[in-house]
Amino acid sequence: MIPAARPEIGQEERDAVDRVMRSGMLAQGPEVAAFETEFSAIVGGAHSVAVNSGTSALHMAFVAAGIGRGDEVIVPSFSFAATANAVALAGATPVFVDIEKDYFSINPAAVDAAITPKTRAIMPVHLYGHPALMVQLTEIAKKHDLLVFEDAAQAHAASVDGIPVGNWGIAGSFSFYPTKNMTSGEGGMITTSSDELARMARVLRNQGMERRYENEVVGFNTRMTDIHAAIGRVQLGKLSGWTKQRQDNAQFFDENISGVVTPPTAEGSVHVYHQYTIRVVDHDRDAFAEALAARGVATGVYYPTPIHRLPSFKLDLDLPVTEEVATQALSLPVYPSLTEQERDTIVESVNDVAKAGS
Ligand SMILES: *Cc1c(COP(=O)(O)O)cnc(C)c1O
Repeated sequence: MIPAARPEIGQEERDAVDRVMRSGMLAQGPEVAAFETEFSAIVGGAHSVAVNSGTSALHMAFVAAGIGRGDEVIVPSFSFAATANAVALAGATPVFVDIEKDYFSINPAAVDAAITPKTRAIMPVHLYGHPALMVQLTEIAKKHDLLVFEDAAQAHAASVDGIPVGNWGIAGSFSFYPTKNMTSGEGGMITTSSDELARMARVLRNQGMERRYENEVVGFNTRMTDIHAAIGRVQLGKLSGWTKQRQDNAQFFDENISGVVTPPTAEGSVHVYHQYTIRVVDHDRDAFAEALAARGVATGVYYPTPIHRLPSFKLDLDLPVTEEVATQALSLPVYPSLTEQERDTIVESVNDVAKAGS
């Protein structure tokens, strides 16, 4: 079976963990500081602030920017639940709007239509590693004086017009969960060009204190450990090579897969293919996935239920594109370690199943 994801952990990662273990200093320390500096150098952002998960990064960014009770944040419903959870955990209200189906981006026109006097921010998601429509979205934000927070959990080193994601708005949030484009075990990173937001995020992750026992606000413990940072630093060094391999695999699929809708890349955008997500339009998607599994190709459905319909939010909204795409999206294995034989198997299997009808 070709698995849907295959995290790569090598000897360098094991050595890095061992180095920290032998140092005897396990909690946030010099490895975290180095990871932040290196992340800024490679992914961009004047400041990078490491935390214990991508969800914490999203959450801390809102709290650090003063987003909370009474505020509305516009988000896509077609995403991982953490996108909306972070808004709700900050005390604000997620306002779900529809996406467009080429790039799975939050729809700029739908965002414009959802703005109310309570709207404080927009949070686009760079889903599957393709950047959201940032040029249009930042224009709308500017016109209405809204903040932009980027959910870049799936899009390390993706960019639009040469500007890396995580640098378009007031803050970007990345995840280092094992199946993401790079991992630290668990972990997250906030990127920001705002000195004040960066300082506040650092204070919030550490119980609300900059100086020990002089807690200035009510904070969290969302620190990253030096063990995780050491893994993340090794993986960061491999990110650009891995991204090229993902893009190469995607190009092979683009050129050879037929009978389903393959994912296009917007002009000026760099897609980093966290997922290679096709849309199955002429077949039942779940039957299609089962037929692929029978041929030894595992796939992923991200995400079967739009966030607004999950029991945690349970809202009765009309988001037709979100509903449609949730029944069509199917992610194929695209990770760097795919062999040529596995790529061939994936292409042949998809083409066979697409031809067979179901
Ligand atoms: C993974 C992910 C998150 C959350 O990251 P964690 O590190 O798992 O907390 C948030 N948003 C999106 C779109 C994700 O894919």
